[in-house]
Amino acid sequence: MKIIRKMLAAVLAALITLSLAACGKGGIIESQEDFQKNMHQSDYYRLSEICETEDGYYFLIGGSDAWYFEKETGRATLLCTKPDCKHEDDTCDGRINGDVLWATGGRLYYTNSALLEEHGKLVDHGERVYSAALDGTRRKVVMDLEFEPSGSSTYVNPILHRGYVYFFYSGVFYRAPLGGRLKRTAQRLWGEEIAGETGRVHIYDSIPVGNSFTLWADGDFVYFMVNVKQADGTYKDTLFAFDTTVDVEKSDGELVRQVWETPDADTVGEWVSTGVEVSQWYVKDGYIYFYLSGGDFWRCSLETGAYEKLADTHEKTVYGKAVFSDEYMCLLNARPEDRSLPGFVVAEEFRYDYNSLVGGDTFYLYGLDGELVKTLPLDSVFEQFEDVENIEPLFCGDGQVWFVAEAVHSTGETGIPQEGFLPFGGVKTYDYIVCRADIETGEITEVCREHRE
Ligand SMILES: [Zn+2]
Repeated sequence: MKIIRKMLAAVLAALITLSLAACGKGGIIESQEDFQKNMHQSDYYRLSEICETEDGYYFLIGGSDAWYFEKETGRATLLCTKPDCKHEDDTCDGRINGDVLWATGGRLYYTNSALLEEHGKLVDHGERVYSAALDGTRRKVVMDLEFEPSGSSTYVNPILHRGYVYFFYSGVFYRAPLGGRLKRTAQRLWGEEIAGETGRVHIYDSIPVGNSFTLWADGDFVYFMVNVKQADGTYKDTLFAFDTTVDVEKSDGELVRQVWETPDADTVGEWVSTGVEVSQWYVKDGYIYFYLSGGDFWRCSLETGAYEKLADTHEKTVYGKAVFSDEYMCLLNARPEDRSLPGFVVAEEFRYDYNSLVGGDTFYLYGLDGELVKTLPLDSVFEQFEDVENIEPLFCGDGQVWFVAEAVHSTGETGIPQEGFLPFGGVKTYDYIVCRADIETGEITEVCREHRE
């Protein structure tokens, strides 16, 4: 889903000329803030880029429209200051077409790999970091994230942690100071650069890892999770750690070490994707907290490797989706998608797709010690909004659990049968309703919504 959206965003952005300032002063931007862990929990493709400032949240819907939610008033507005703008096309200031969203030093940052129109030609600069004022205006290029535009992005969302941008390029792990000139300031942290005839080459084929890296940071450590191929041909999600207190230039040892891998069933019991990946995870203070859909909440010490079951969640629901914060493990009940429908083919690599769970009508909030502290029924979501079929948790913070309610409306029309498309369903419209539930009162409020024909 992410890949499709990314390509779509790239095409959209290629159609317009962004008025970009030149590469700035090439100056490094001071930023001491930590990676916003709890904002980066959801893989939900309609809304996965969220960042927080003291006053509110910024988020992207469908990867393109930037919204601002003001904490004090509880109001969400599209980030567009243009008078009389209908917010319908890419001339709207609210269109960011970004892949990540960070806020630091009073500006927003996002990445984009779209082709840019320069002097009447479309130019490929590869993936770049851009910034904008907090109202979405005054956009400019901050730095490159590809040494040479590869034409194919690696689909790794970079992170910003304590002034450094951590990213992958051709399977190699780097960091560079925010705003720094890439070729001059990037430091290689893990992986081999293999020189080919055309310079750097893609090395996924030569190392036994999948191409899905998830970056993370907590305190002094930056982590990444990647699927590593095992001797028996299966894959296991494996966590690697980089200690940011190490002087990279002076160190002659390994900068990155493996600290964890997906456990086996004899350690934590069977779950939906046993032995391959955990459903959702979170690293805090040297522990990885994880949820196993079809299993339970666990944590493992990255220091000693000792496992500890935190909560028997299958007493509440067998299947579920979880988001974590520094305070809560927040579980939404769910059920597996019906894959018996005609024409529903699941490719081998998507067998364990976490997104194949649907439904959900109750949040269970556990403390990080595993104690159930709150049950949040979502009854009012189904009363307030018609045709809600699915709930997707987004994040938990500031006393609220954010989620998207997906409403699917049937128009009653049967639609025109098309070759290659599934025959069932008819014509439908969709509402993606962003909501928040107050943990204290249980009150559910709509934040904003996106309507799709
Ligand atoms: Zn607009």
